[in-house]
Parts: sequence; C-alpha cells; structure tokens
Amino acid sequence: MRYISTRGQAPALSFEEVVLTGMASDGGLYVPDEIPTLSHDDLAAMAGLSYAEIAFRVMKPYVNGEIDDAIFRGIVEEAYATFSHDAVVPLNQLDANHFLLELFHGPTLAFKDVALQLLGRILDHFLQKRGERAVIMGATSGDTGSAAIEGCRHCDNLDIFILHPHQRVSEVQRRQMTTVLADNVFNVAIEGNFDDAQAMVKASFADQGFLDGTRLVAVNSINWARIMAQIVYYVASAVALGAPHRAVSFCVPSANFGNVFAGYMAKRMGLPVKQFIIATNANDILHRTLADNDFSKQELVATLAPSMDIVVSSNFERLLFEAYERDGASVKALLERFQSEPSALAEAPLARLRESFASHSVDDATILEVIREAHHRTQEILDPHTATGYRAAEQERADAATPVITLATAHPAKFAEAVVKAGFPGVPLPPHMDDLLEREERYTVLPAELSAVQQFVAENRR
Ligand SMILES: *Cc1c(COP(=O)(O)O)cnc(C)c1O
Repeated sequence: MRYISTRGQAPALSFEEVVLTGMASDGGLYVPDEIPTLSHDDLAAMAGLSYAEIAFRVMKPYVNGEIDDAIFRGIVEEAYATFSHDAVVPLNQLDANHFLLELFHGPTLAFKDVALQLLGRILDHFLQKRGERAVIMGATSGDTGSAAIEGCRHCDNLDIFILHPHQRVSEVQRRQMTTVLADNVFNVAIEGNFDDAQAMVKASFADQGFLDGTRLVAVNSINWARIMAQIVYYVASAVALGAPHRAVSFCVPSANFGNVFAGYMAKRMGLPVKQFIIATNANDILHRTLADNDFSKQELVATLAPSMDIVVSSNFERLLFEAYERDGASVKALLERFQSEPSALAEAPLARLRESFASHSVDDATILEVIREAHHRTQEILDPHTATGYRAAEQERADAATPVITLATAHPAKFAEAVVKAGFPGVPLPPHMDDLLEREERYTVLPAELSAVQQFVAENRR
C-alpha cells in the first residue's frame, strides 16, 4: 500500500513517510491508494476479542508490514493499557436502542487520547529505527495539546513543544498539560490569543531553518495515523452490537472531521453502517454543506462545546476526495475557490455524500437543555460535545430498529462549566486525577513573537 495526496500532485509515500510527514507538499492530505477490506468472516472472527487485538487486525494493512507484527502488537497493547477502563472504549446503553461509546477513559479524558497514545509510540519507533530525533510543535486551545503531551511523554526520540494562549484556557485544561514534568515536554504560554499561537506554529513549519535540519512533526488530525487509530473503535463497537450480522448507525460530534471520517473508512472497509449522523455546534459548516450545499466560511462563534469551535474542517477534504471519485484536480479547484469565496459542491458528489451522511446543528441553549433532558431520561451527565451528538442522533436517526451509537468524545468533568450552567453542582474528576489541582506545574511564558518562540525551541530541544 502507498499513500497518495487528495490534490493529486505530491509524490506517493510509504506508511513510515506519511506518519513523519503530515501535510502533502501540494497542500493536500494523504490517504491510502487502495482501501483494505474486512470480509464478513474477518468481522465475525472479531467477536469477543480484546480491543488491542481488534486494533491490531484493523490497522495491520495500513501499517503495510513496515513495523514488524510482534513489535506493532506490543505498541498497540502498551497504548491502550493507559486507559482506565478494561474495555478501553466501553459501550453504555442509554435506552432501547441508543448507545454511548465512551471514548474518554484515556489519560486526558477526551477521545483524542485514542489516536495520540498510539501516534507517539509509532513515531518514536520509526525515529529510533532511523537513529533520528524529531521536534513536535503544536498550538492548542485545549484537548489536542494535552493529549499530544500525554502521548509523547515517554518517547525518547521526541521533544514536544505545545503553545497555549496565556490565561485563556481553563484551569483543568492548562493543568493537564503543565503538570506533566517529563524532560521532553515543554509548555509555552503565549502572551496572545490562540490564533497568534497557531500562526507561529504554522510559520515554523513553513520555514524550519531554526532547527538546523532536525525534523519537525505535526500531530494534528491531518496525520494519517490518527485517522487509522480511530477506525478501530467503529469496528469494535459495531462488532459488540452484532456486526457483521446487523448494521448500526453512528452519531459523531464533529469539528475537523477526523473522527467521523475514520467511521466512513470503516464502512468502506466493509463494516455494515446504515447512517453517519454529523453533529455540529453553532459552527456549522458541515451541516450547512450537507443540508443546503452552502460550503462557505463564517465567523467563528465561541460555544459551550469549545473543542468543536472551527471555521473550516480540515479533514473534510479527505471525504471530498472520495465524493469526487478520487479526482484530485477537482478537489484542488474546489478548495482553492473555497479559500476566497463561498462555494458549493457539484451535484453528483453531494448526492453521494447524502447517501451515507445526515447532519444536525445544536446551539448553546439546546446543549444545556439536552444535558438536563438526557440526565432526566438516563441518569447520565453528558459533556457539552456529547450533548450535541445525543440530540442529533435523536433527531436524525433514520429508524428506531437500527441501533445508534453516539460517540461520547469527552468526560463531563473536563467541561464542568457547561454542566454547571445546565444546573448541576458539577462533576468530580475521576479518582486517578482528583489531585490535579494540587500538582506542581511547569511552563514558560513568552511574548507572541516568532523569534522568541523559535529561539526557545532551538535551545531547549535535546
Ligand atoms: C476534537 C474534539 C471533537 C471534534 O473531533 P474532530 O475529529 O475534529 O471532528 C469533538 N469533541 C471533543 C471533546 C474533541 O476534543
């Protein structure tokens, strides 16, 4: 298997190269040149297997023999041993046919741990083999930074620098990053906003001279290994509910579209999925595109589900590539136009998308209402991101007979502000984190100046 760009021009790469590369040189994203299949028998044989074993089987074709099977199995087992629930991602039945897939039992209490616990270890493996070191740089307003730090804290060949806007992330989110005291972890609080931090990371990727040839690696959701790791829980949860013998539907709280795209890949591999329901908050580009063919940027709105606050969904490009039947030139033309003016999809690709996807947008007032209503009906306290999914699933599911699985993307304790606004006294952190507010913190405050940040990175990398 090789990996090709959604814009059709960058060279094809191996798995190892794609994991170390991030974005393609033509501005596109990498996808496998052919989608591996899981046969009816392959799926049937997964019944009763551990999460790590299912993960190994689902991901093996994507790794393409580039990591020895026994080593890869070890990496997978180690990654998922960091989760606090034995099932890794347990299913929680809410009512007759609506399930929550709890993706928040990892070290930072959000679904990004599922991919980043694996990605850090895969990167470290390849770097060790090559005798190289690499630097990770990222900007975060919350979930991604802490999950990336937790995923890399034990990696000998990586130094990780995460920029967050000083005094503009919640205390829990900051402490999840700054209380990791490993020697290869550097938290930088930028005296500016998230966009300033993001711009400095982008500029550093565009001109890497300050690192004297050391590789700079991106761990945002354009990295193929993150998608690959997320395919697994769609397969594992569907198998737990009877796949391949019966179909299920999934509802996914979405932003950059990495999560739900992984579900779509599972379907293309052969998993029987009736429907994907995309839930958005008020930042609803995905819903506008699917419902009204309005593919245009709108002003960012700060919502109660902040990890879904986006203007553009970067991974949507991967789905467009499939909808346009892998015509990279058309995808490139569409996305270049979209940068400067409101756009629309061609009729046939849009029709193809509507065969698999429904969508629903949920505003802040509704998020609060849903948290109360879901608690009244099920005794569960949902986090605000999961609440968008709960509502979207109830509204958009095609029929009551097909089980619908809503992906619970974060633990409610991580977004207690919304839960308190909904009228609850708050949610305690899980036991292994209940001393988070007393732990020692370490971070460096820097001005929002590119040269200061780059000098800090260059001097502190090991
Ligand atoms: C990142 C995140 C999302 C959005 O996931 P995408 O893959 O970007 O669509 C949803 N909920 C939570 C809690 C997140 O951290």
